[in-house]
Formats: sequence, C-alpha cells, structure tokens
Amino acid sequence: MITRSPGQHVFIALGTPWIDAVVAFLEPTARLDPWIMRGKMAIGDLLITVLDTTPRTVLCIETVAAPFDGTSRIEVDEEVSALRSLPVVPEVEQRWSITFPTDSGSVDDALADRILAAVQSYEVPYFGDIDTLDPTSTAAHARTLMRERGNCTGCDSPMPLRKFNSGDRLHFHSASRIFRQAEPGDDYPAVLCRKCAGRMAASGHANFIDYMLSKNPPCPHCGAHRTARCSPGMPVYPFDHLPWFAGTGCVVGPDTPEWTCRECKHSWGQMFPPYFP
Ligand SMILES: [Zn+2]
Ligand SMILES: [Zn+2]
Repeated sequence: MITRSPGQHVFIALGTPWIDAVVAFLEPTARLDPWIMRGKMAIGDLLITVLDTTPRTVLCIETVAAPFDGTSRIEVDEEVSALRSLPVVPEVEQRWSITFPTDSGSVDDALADRILAAVQSYEVPYFGDIDTLDPTSTAAHARTLMRERGNCTGCDSPMPLRKFNSGDRLHFHSASRIFRQAEPGDDYPAVLCRKCAGRMAASGHANFIDYMLSKNPPCPHCGAHRTARCSPGMPVYPFDHLPWFAGTGCVVGPDTPEWTCRECKHSWGQMFPPYFP
C-alpha cells in the first residue's frame, strides 16, 4: 500500500475526457493530452488521478519523478499503482466519510492520507457480489476498458489505441458485471474492436454471452448452441467468469475434452489430440 511519508505531498490530477485518459494510461504513446494538473510538485510527491466519469472514479496513484512547476511536462515513476477496479468516488466518500477535492491541485496532508488509504482498500465487487454501478454509465465503461487492459473482449486482440484520437469512441456493450453461471439471459460487459462490434451486430445477438457462445460449435448431443471451450487451469479468474470458456481444473490429460455443453453437460473432443507424426 502506498502511504505518504513526512514531507511528501499529495496532488489530485484530473483525467478528462475520461476515455482519453484511460486510453493514454493503457497506451502512453497515444497522442492525447487528457491530464489537468496544478501546483508545484517535488520529486517523490504523490499524484492521484481522478476521471470525469459518471460517477467519478480514481484511475491511479503515481510518484512524481521530476520537479513540476505547473507548466513543464509531468514525469512520473514507471511504477504505477493502477486501481483497476476504478474506485467510485461517491462510494469512497460515503464509506470513509471524506470529501474528495473537485479540482486538481494539492491536497491537505490529513485528507490525503485518508484518500490514499480509502482508494487502496476499495474492493472490487467480485463474482456474485452486487455491483451497484449503473452498467450503462461511463464509470462502468471505464472499468471494462481497464479490466480488459485495452484488449477486445470478443477476440482478445489489442485494440488500436495508439491511433486513438480525442473525440474517438470505442464500442462498449453495457451489462451488469455480476457473474452468474451463464444462465440464459445473463450478459457480460464488453469493449469490442470494430470487427467484433460489426460481427456481433450482424449476428443479431443483443446479448454478449449469447453472441460468444454462438461462435462455438453446437452440442452434438442436444444441439444446443450454448457450448464452452475447455480451458485448463484452476477454475478461477479469468476463466470461470467467461462463460464461453469452461475451467477444467489444473489436472489435464488425454481424456480432457475440448468442448462442453452448458445445457446438457455433455463434453466431447480432445483438448490434446494424439499426435501421429
Ligand atoms: Zn475483437
Ligand atoms: Zn448439449
């Protein structure tokens, strides 16, 4: 946990518009300048970046690496404490009885200590937890983009963030982030590359899980189009919350199937087909 040492000061930076800020955070070479900072910072001071999402969220905590006078280019240490869960400012304020500054600039030491502790102990709503964030909100979209680390949820390829220009948009699919067992009707939040967004629209599926499952082969036993590709490893993150994958546990062998049906539980195929040279 990052804490403030005596003599160290904390500053709030604003990332606006939020999408440029998240893109620039994930792809520092993107030609974007979404940061607003004020104040004179010394080496070692801490910078907490707040995004203008609705509701506001906290992006990261960084350490200032060169003196900043308000006009120079800010330099920060490579080590960044990214808050991938993007703590929601109003939630943090309520839970910790603090008030975040609304503007960029220096923060009073006592408040800074509480903000540092609060944002770093903020817990991500986990599987099965109720995520109270409105799934259509920009805060939810920013979380999706951070969680996917700039990759497309549909094809897992990096999106061309380097070419992202201010004013560009990304394709977000809004859905509640609660994980359930891929029951019919369950959906999943996504950020999609242009290709996947086009394919999903062409597929006629409005539900992202249905769309992903429809790309897998139908079940040879019951014909259902709700099958998942088996994936080795413990059935933990990330596979057990991606319903188009099925965790097989960490013990895999010649009998490990390639596919499993979420409807009738039939499994088939071989993850490791025998090799005949
Ligand atoms: Zn894609
Ligand atoms: Zn089946």
